[in-house]
Amino acid sequence: MPTYSNTPPDPDEQRALPIRRTPTNGQLRAAITTDDLIGTPTHFYGGHTVPCEPPNCEACGKGIPWTWHGYVAAIQAGSRLHFIFEFTAQVGQTFRDYYDVQSTLRGCLFTAERMHHRPNGRVIITLTPGDLAVLNLPRPPDMQACLGIIWHIPSTSSSVSRDVNNKPIIRVDSAARIVAENIGSQRKSNGKGS
Ligand SMILES: [Zn+2]
Repeated sequence: MPTYSNTPPDPDEQRALPIRRTPTNGQLRAAITTDDLIGTPTHFYGGHTVPCEPPNCEACGKGIPWTWHGYVAAIQAGSRLHFIFEFTAQVGQTFRDYYDVQSTLRGCLFTAERMHHRPNGRVIITLTPGDLAVLNLPRPPDMQACLGIIWHIPSTSSSVSRDVNNKPIIRVDSAARIVAENIGSQRKSNGKGS
């Protein structure tokens, strides 16, 4: 027997958020809803990105190289679509630097685009603190649960490594960093209590 209701389920309770990456053409503009980033080594294996799962990782066993990918949840400007943003270690370090100044990623407004609009062009990302009172952000999703749904992994089987500063560990390539704009200069404006 069906169970009817007059109210749709809260979209924020739906953990199956879509993944978005930096587009080849145009810009992705969004506001981050999660407090921090989460990331893990991944393989491009079987036609898509899958997490590296030691100690008996199938892709590692076949010699497939790994690449670190990071994730935050964000709502897209305009549509307010709640999605998971996937990014590389370079971009992750930019978010990490922002976090170190602002103490949270939540409310961070970012614009991401690709240099020369090439499919694998370097991602140029700019970050600006947003006004949480104006943004009216939804509650952050459980990122491990979201990624678990995407990767068909029970969330109980994953864990987040923490370093001594209680932040997720992030492995970064030696490639040049991208400078995030407006991070240091706006620290003072974030100091007001809210
Ligand atoms: Zn692996």
